[in-house]
Amino acid sequence: MEGTFVVIGGGIAGVSCAESLAFLAPEERVILITASPLIKAVTNIVPLSQMMTRFDVQERDALSLSEMHPSISIIHDTVMSVDLVNKYVETESGQIVRYKKLCLCNGASPKMIAQDNPHVLGIRDTESVNNFSKKVKNARRIVIVGNGGIATEIVHEIQGIEMIWVIKDKHISATFVDPGAAEFFQYKLLKKGNDTSEDGIVKRMKYKIADEQAVAGGAALGPDWHRNYNITGISQTSSPVQVEYSCELVAISSESHHDEDNTENWPIYVKLTNGKNIGCDFVVSATGVIPNSVMRGSEELKRGEDGGYLVDDRLKTSEKDVFAAGDVCTANWDLAQHWFQMRLWTQAMQMGRYAAKSMVCEFRGEECLQDFCFELFTHVTKFFGFKVVLLGLYNGQKLKGEYEILLRVTKGAEYVKLILKNGKLQGAVLIGETNLEEMCENLILDQLDLSVYGEDLLNPDIDVEDYFD
Ligand SMILES: Cc1cc2nc3c(=O)[nH]c(=O)nc-3n(C[C@H](O)[C@H](O)[C@H](O)COP(=O)(O)OP(=O)(O)OC[C@H]3O[C@@H](n4cnc5c(N)ncnc54)[C@H](O)[C@@H]3O)c2cc1C
Repeated sequence: MEGTFVVIGGGIAGVSCAESLAFLAPEERVILITASPLIKAVTNIVPLSQMMTRFDVQERDALSLSEMHPSISIIHDTVMSVDLVNKYVETESGQIVRYKKLCLCNGASPKMIAQDNPHVLGIRDTESVNNFSKKVKNARRIVIVGNGGIATEIVHEIQGIEMIWVIKDKHISATFVDPGAAEFFQYKLLKKGNDTSEDGIVKRMKYKIADEQAVAGGAALGPDWHRNYNITGISQTSSPVQVEYSCELVAISSESHHDEDNTENWPIYVKLTNGKNIGCDFVVSATGVIPNSVMRGSEELKRGEDGGYLVDDRLKTSEKDVFAAGDVCTANWDLAQHWFQMRLWTQAMQMGRYAAKSMVCEFRGEECLQDFCFELFTHVTKFFGFKVVLLGLYNGQKLKGEYEILLRVTKGAEYVKLILKNGKLQGAVLIGETNLEEMCENLILDQLDLSVYGEDLLNPDIDVEDYFD
């Protein structure tokens, strides 16, 4: 087979790339090769501001894509190798697919704290979450290792089970929030089991599963993935989450010996750097991801320290005619001051679409300007039932500690943190229904000098937006 454009991967990046190719160059053949029969498509995009969007992620039969876009052909197969000189890829079933431009969107896999241990689980695709929800049903106690979005979500969502959360930082959810915001969430951990009422509403996009088929090696799960699964343990009540701060795992052992409390036997024990030996039914490894950049023949492509394929400002890898997007790539251009890469679905979608634009421009010999979305980091999510908006250098990243913070907190309602340098807004953390996202976004992009407003910027009695109208 031969396609002008060949895309590998049926996750958000690959599907966004293939759809955009079909839109931008409908006369050219696009071939999408995906290891799983189900693909992830982004739908119902709702702009929240100039830069921020909310969208649904739908899991669909891969073939539906070619029904909607006749120029796209789907191959359900795994790519085993790529020949960068002769410009073709070879699949597991032996198919040779030639390309003029190739985009690698193979995604990433969970970093596992122990390989091939049935009591240690990672969460990525529908198969892994099926396995997880089955195990939770019969579990009394689990240990969660990691301090990012997935760990935070699991701790919040699971009921009826004893949870020990092992984090290497001094505060929870450190990938996304600072100690102050962590403190803001803390009461939710203590009250766990007694307050389900206010969290019943899902405000962000729901994730839809096409059928019950579990897929291994499939794309990463989408928003609100846990709503489709019953992740309740056997206990009727939930106890507060026990957080083990500033420590890491030293060893995992299945040997039957008693744990800290010396009361019962557990299938697995974890030893922590703080000296504790904790028994549990299983361990969830949520310590980040490793890009799937190990395809045979792709050794020539330059990789970053995190293992991702290095890409330039056109999302081109180090080899001619080969692009990469989403979790599998590592941004290696002169980044805009207020943007950085994080392996998130918004960036997977943005990169997939922009890679398509770059591929088409290069194919036609046209000039292509970098997409505006790479000017400002934006992330909208939900932690512990609160809407969380992160903008720009929200944790003072890149500022080397030289910044001021303006803070407004109403316990249980909102947490607003603005990061300012030389009177100009650099980043913001907005938790709760603050309605400040558009103003903050504009202030970061415009770099207006705000010194004259001082603390009034967050004075709830002053409608700051009036200043800037
Ligand atoms: C549990 C969970 C919760 C998350 N929560 C959030 C969140 O709240 N907010 C957020 O922004 N992000 C979240 N993420 C991250 C987000 O899901 C990913 O960043 C994003 O989906 C990456 O998309 P991708 O297309 O790059 O990769 P993937 O979704 O991993 O897709 C890769 C695709 O490539 C295919 N593939 C791989 N190798 C081959 C091969 N050799 N041949 C053919 N096909 C191949 C796979 O089958 C798959 O279809 C979460 C991730 C997980 C796992």
